[in-house]
Amino acid sequence: MNEKKSIYGTTLETLKVTFSGMGLRPFVASQVLSWIYKKNVTDVRRMTNISNDVKLKISQRLSFDRFKSVQQIPSEDELAVKLICELQDAQKIECVVLKEKSHLTLCISSQAGCPVDCKFCLTGVAGFKRNLDASEIVMQVLEAKQLGFDIKNLVFMGMGEPLLNYDQLFIAIEILNSDWGYNIGARHITISTSGYLASINRLIKDNRFVNLAFSVGSAFPVTRNQIMPIEARNPILKVARRLHDYLKLHNRKLTLEYTLLQSVNDSVFEIEGLINLAKYLDAKINLINLNPHEKIPFKPIDSDSLSLIKERIQSAGARVTVRFKKGQDIAAACGQLGESIISN
Ligand code: SAH
Ligand code: SF4
Repeated sequence: MNEKKSIYGTTLETLKVTFSGMGLRPFVASQVLSWIYKKNVTDVRRMTNISNDVKLKISQRLSFDRFKSVQQIPSEDELAVKLICELQDAQKIECVVLKEKSHLTLCISSQAGCPVDCKFCLTGVAGFKRNLDASEIVMQVLEAKQLGFDIKNLVFMGMGEPLLNYDQLFIAIEILNSDWGYNIGARHITISTSGYLASINRLIKDNRFVNLAFSVGSAFPVTRNQIMPIEARNPILKVARRLHDYLKLHNRKLTLEYTLLQSVNDSVFEIEGLINLAKYLDAKINLINLNPHEKIPFKPIDSDSLSLIKERIQSAGARVTVRFKKGQDIAAACGQLGESIISN
């Protein structure tokens, strides 16, 4: 493993301090980061406005290594491209380029695997390997850009529970969001969470404002507990109250993600609970029909039932969308990330 700190997990401020300590002038930090984030150049030898002895000093201290390998798998419908990234320690993570009407979104991973163990999720089934550090989060965007994808939107809906990797997540977000970095606006970054109370409290305390998506599972504690073990310590009633507090502070958008599992959370009663939650939080509901897999013990619902549920929600006056399953043939749809870990 490389002992040097990765340049891709370093903010401008930190880099300036590091460079000052090395006897270099702070503006060199801006030059280096501008090569990386504005000109897509990651080879220090190609940074032509920096002198050779300074380049040598920098590369002795910081690592410019990227992922060991990045494998691209396009879906048949060409609406998604899965990137399987091999990290320096040979762990594999996945992220997905999603082609929307007018822009490209990157569905990004925050952990290798996931410890939360939601029973309908392939990443959960794959188990937890480790947290990603900020550089490994940023590098997913960097590698996508190197491949020519002009990413404008980020959703933390890949592998892992982002709010269980809070510190590294927000260093990465600073780099992705800053004008000296990738300059992706906060309104274009969404963190999806299964509802980890301690971190939602921290979002409030730290005065962070990002768009959140909350993975509901079920609005009822008993059902939720069966499919999302996180419910035991992070009861949905408390989570909903804290999300309500958070939204009041920042007027941010909240989406409720609802993965439909046949005969588990698709009854009229369950959907009523979801509607009430959406109204309380003034949130949009995003229905996701389960992406089935042989390792997941649930079935999706049929398309007529999905339409009925959508209509019921609409006629109750709540906003609702149905997530189109991009890239299902390459196991790149949400909750299907982890195939490359399981098959290893
Ligand atoms: N850990 C975070 C983000 C990653 S999961 C979270 O749970 O929110 C991203 C979304 O995929 C979540 O809304 C999750 O409920 C959904 N999901 C997980 N497994 C799925 C599956 N098999 N089919 C459809 N959606 C799934
Ligand atoms: Fe982890 Fe999210 Fe999957 Fe649950 S749904 S196991 S929190 S990645």
